[in-house]
Amino acid sequence: NTPLQQDDPEVFAIIKDEERRQFSGLELIASENFTSQAVIEALGSCLTNKYSEGLPGARYYGGTENVDKLERLAQARALRAFNLSPEQWACNVQPYSGSSANMAVYYGILAPGDRLMGLDLPSGGHLTHGFQTPTRKVSATSAFFSSVPYRVDPATGLIDYDHLETVALSFRPKLLICGASAYPRDFDYPRLRAIADSVGALLLCDMAHISGLVSARILADPFQWCDVVTTTTHKTLRGPRAGIIFFRRDRHNLEQRINQAVFPGLQGGPHNHTIAATAVALGHLARPEFAQYAQAVVTNAQALARCLADAGHTIVTGGTDNHIVLWDLRPVGLTGSKYERLCDEIHISVNKNAIHGDKSALSPGGVRLGTPALTSRSFGPEHMVQVAGLLDRALALALAIQTAVAPATRLADFGAYIDALKAEPAAAEN
Ligand code: PLP
Repeated sequence: NTPLQQDDPEVFAIIKDEERRQFSGLELIASENFTSQAVIEALGSCLTNKYSEGLPGARYYGGTENVDKLERLAQARALRAFNLSPEQWACNVQPYSGSSANMAVYYGILAPGDRLMGLDLPSGGHLTHGFQTPTRKVSATSAFFSSVPYRVDPATGLIDYDHLETVALSFRPKLLICGASAYPRDFDYPRLRAIADSVGALLLCDMAHISGLVSARILADPFQWCDVVTTTTHKTLRGPRAGIIFFRRDRHNLEQRINQAVFPGLQGGPHNHTIAATAVALGHLARPEFAQYAQAVVTNAQALARCLADAGHTIVTGGTDNHIVLWDLRPVGLTGSKYERLCDEIHISVNKNAIHGDKSALSPGGVRLGTPALTSRSFGPEHMVQVAGLLDRALALALAIQTAVAPATRLADFGAYIDALKAEPAAAEN
């Protein structure tokens, strides 16, 4: 028996159930991955006991000699992972997550009410890039700052840089944000830089989703063009749940402003166990196996997109440059929510996702698929053929259920029908 099993069998059992769920199903959620046991060991270490507000060498607590060494190691590995010179770039590895990293950037370089521009959520942007609806300031970033989004071109699904430029020239943001949560293509950083310069804006890249692919040099390098770069560490980077902020040292006093925004601005004590796990994951990035992994993630995503397209399905932008496949279900008349619900039943994890042009954000028109997790489980392109086949069969089943439930096609009715099928298989045949 493990200490947890003995001490708290209830929590232990839930963790074991989750472990079974993660490893017995197909994990296609683009923002998830499987960390190594080494990362998990660091996360579960005694470092969680330690307070260390401040930065290495300048703490508000005693007894920090080991965590100082650890945080400096994580910083050095983070810079090395992206080939950054410590003379030009520095980083902060303390953000608790991606959202807190972005908030710290805004708090550090903007004043309340300042203008920012990011990719709209229904176009694939993240909540923290200033999302709001006509009636509600959904994200704190739209409540505390003034936000106007840019969008993808509805015809192509690609970012409309001409429209972005027009909006920027009239809105004149102080911060232009690129990066996304559901965008299957790479970014035109030179163009974004030129637009930012033309309005005197700082340029932030939130590379949360793609940072592992950037580190492996599969995607374009945002550091050449941006003033600040943020990332999560738990997606393609395959580390613990956390965030990192990189900033240029030679511009606008960014280093001091952003470090102070993290602490004491927004956070208290760093999560040292997480920083240790981040350091472990960053150490992996330097190994040739990681470059192979990152390449396999993209090869798999491209194979999955191709198989689905070959089966007649609509893939936004026609394919992918990264780990994301955005599947538009509107042509077959099914919502992403219903498809996600059906997939849950057969142990395939996907997530409903808005597709540009959706009538309502409450009823997303598609699903987002991603290959980082399955690639960590050694799936290759040949397995993607099978995965696409299962997704295709799942779609046929979902459509049959929708037809059976009609005319009431609400998600609740759809789900209730599935529950009834499970409870009474014979009744459903009638
Ligand atoms: N930025 C982007 C582009 C993301 O996709 C996400 C999460 O999915 C975040 C930031 C926020 O990260 P977290 O969920 O760790 O706060």
